[in-house]
Amino acid sequence: MHKPTLDYAQQLDKEDNLAHLRAQFHIPKDAEGNDWLYFTGNSLGLQPKQTQQYIQQELDDWAKYGVEGHFEARNPWMPYHEFLTNSMAKIVGAKPLEVVVMNTLTTNLHLLMVSFYQPTKTKYKIVIESDAFPSDRYAVQSQLKFHGFDTEEGLIEWKPREGEELLRIEDLEKIIDEQGDEIALLLIGGVNYYTGQYLDIKRIAEIGHAKNCMVGIDLAHGAGNISPELHNSGVDFAAWCTYKYLNSGPGSLGGLFVHEKHAHNKDLPRFAGWWNHNKETRFNMRQPFDVMAGGEGWQLSNPPILSMAAIRASLDMFEEVGMEALRAKSEKLTGYFEYLINQIDTASIKIITPSNPKERGCQLSIQVKNADKSLHKKLTENNIITDWREPDVIRCAPVPMYNSFEDVFRMVEILKELL
Ligand SMILES: *Cc1c(COP(=O)(O)O)cnc(C)c1O
Repeated sequence: MHKPTLDYAQQLDKEDNLAHLRAQFHIPKDAEGNDWLYFTGNSLGLQPKQTQQYIQQELDDWAKYGVEGHFEARNPWMPYHEFLTNSMAKIVGAKPLEVVVMNTLTTNLHLLMVSFYQPTKTKYKIVIESDAFPSDRYAVQSQLKFHGFDTEEGLIEWKPREGEELLRIEDLEKIIDEQGDEIALLLIGGVNYYTGQYLDIKRIAEIGHAKNCMVGIDLAHGAGNISPELHNSGVDFAAWCTYKYLNSGPGSLGGLFVHEKHAHNKDLPRFAGWWNHNKETRFNMRQPFDVMAGGEGWQLSNPPILSMAAIRASLDMFEEVGMEALRAKSEKLTGYFEYLINQIDTASIKIITPSNPKERGCQLSIQVKNADKSLHKKLTENNIITDWREPDVIRCAPVPMYNSFEDVFRMVEILKELL
């Protein structure tokens, strides 16, 4: 059984075979040099120390070769995005053919909807979670509007029941049973950003496909956090960012997945540019457009190499450690965090994230009744970096790559005092 003591937390760190990874990151510090207790890897992951050297390599080759770097650089820029594909595919449980790194998340969602949101007069509605991330909501509303539909009437929300915070899969089933003939697309956050709930995406795909709806998953809070098995889930498409759990730096590029079943369909409507045209004839310049197979067939532009270098620095770490080991530590770390919070002797605090480790990633969303943003401010003054969501929720993500058991112990001690 766990113990709520510093000694015990430090013992767990000693037994943790991933504990050495923390030293490979820059951990922000206060003015006296004390490490911050950083729990916002779900918002912006910390910087791996090797990122600088990966970016420096490309700066050096640009200085040395100019445009010739496309072929002459140590890591030639022409196929640079291909260096990321295998590790990225492993992280989300996909085949390399299905994955590409490009653009940013919301841009990719739109490009995917160009292909997979093909509404007709009678089948045009889109289902999202009621707690969907605002950017996703705006994106689907603008797609409805773009196709000439009413944004209120065309949007169906999958909501938690009265008095509950989490979504129930039966309620999605009911929506699709009753209105599936009018629904063209389900766009669902695989791990909800607000509650931290990890939904059964395979089940969601089955439910949507039973009524011929396309199914897309936003994995912003899933990639690098849980192991979503995208290929086996059967979802049609997915998109995610890399600056959260994938530690690739502010505003870095996103990932895109299109299921193999669509990989060779050249008739899908899509936008085009030179980068989704056949590699072999790309530079003949006068060829008619010939779209590439798989995820690469959604690219438009030649990609930003400096941002990709940062992604590569991070993916190399994931490749070395493996998602399996990270998940194993993550379940332990978040489990200990949950245990400590449940030890706090007050009725005002409640974890809204599922308690089943299979239904969550590392994040716990902690509701503090009657609290306001001053609590978040006090936590920050104590070097505890968390995310506050109105009206009363602290989102807190202990990340297995760099957070320790001691981090969560210290955090809960301070939270206890503040309450
Ligand atoms: C972080 C996040 C975004 C952000 O989108 P960008 O296009 O990268 O700015 C969108 N959707 C979800 C669900 C997110 O968690």
